[in-house]
Amino acid sequence: MPIRRLPGDRSRTRLHITNKKPQGKLHKANDTGLSCMAVATTQKGEANFESNYKGETQSIIEEWKKKWEIPTVTYGITNESKHFPDNSIEMRAMTVALRVWQLRIKDIRFKRVYDTTVNTPDIPLTFVDAENDKLFSERPGVLAYAYFPTESPIGGDITFNDSYNWTLTGESIPAWKVDPEHYTKNTTVKLKGYNMVHTMIHELGHAIGLRHDEFNKDSVMHPFYNGKVVLSPTDVRRIQTFYGERKISNKWIQYFRDRMLSGRIR
Ligand SMILES: [Zn+2]
Repeated sequence: MPIRRLPGDRSRTRLHITNKKPQGKLHKANDTGLSCMAVATTQKGEANFESNYKGETQSIIEEWKKKWEIPTVTYGITNESKHFPDNSIEMRAMTVALRVWQLRIKDIRFKRVYDTTVNTPDIPLTFVDAENDKLFSERPGVLAYAYFPTESPIGGDITFNDSYNWTLTGESIPAWKVDPEHYTKNTTVKLKGYNMVHTMIHELGHAIGLRHDEFNKDSVMHPFYNGKVVLSPTDVRRIQTFYGERKISNKWIQYFRDRMLSGRIR
């Protein structure tokens, strides 16, 4: 599978993202077709959201102008992660994340493409090592990126940085499992794992049209990794302006959330 190149035309953008503490102005989502997941961490590896938002209580987000106009949007995995024996973990994260959005909207539905070598899905998911991706090479702090819906086939594409350790819930991983060359089973060292479901919900949000929400730290669409797997009221309101409101009781949403968090969803 060739690595997708960034387009060389005006839709190519520069990202401003980091895995270090943000300096000065908060990094903004670009608005020319490519967006990103960014992570801010302290020295302890915790997410860091300090300072940039003080006094901001009102949000005005100029929304992306395009959305999926087809009733059925297809998805599938074109390159699985090297960290798992098959793609079942990745597919599960994608299915859960799609459901989080699907439960709130009515104008589109998502359908899986099983053989992505035969049919290219509208939303293809690719995992790639940082050294094999131009953007990740230049910006090693980027966890993943996605393209907004556009007329171009690249719209909706999602790429995860496979040089990070991904887990379904963001739990840390015994180092010997990831790096048996340097750690033996006796070690108590653990490596940070990143929440694949959270990141997937965020990137899917871009893939169906949402820009970043810089104003709400609890939003899944916040530009920095926060591990959220529940949509904020702002996330919900925004996506429903794109695709209509699906009337569903909070009881059902809670039911799916509980199943998802307890790991029983498939
Ligand atoms: Zn993003």
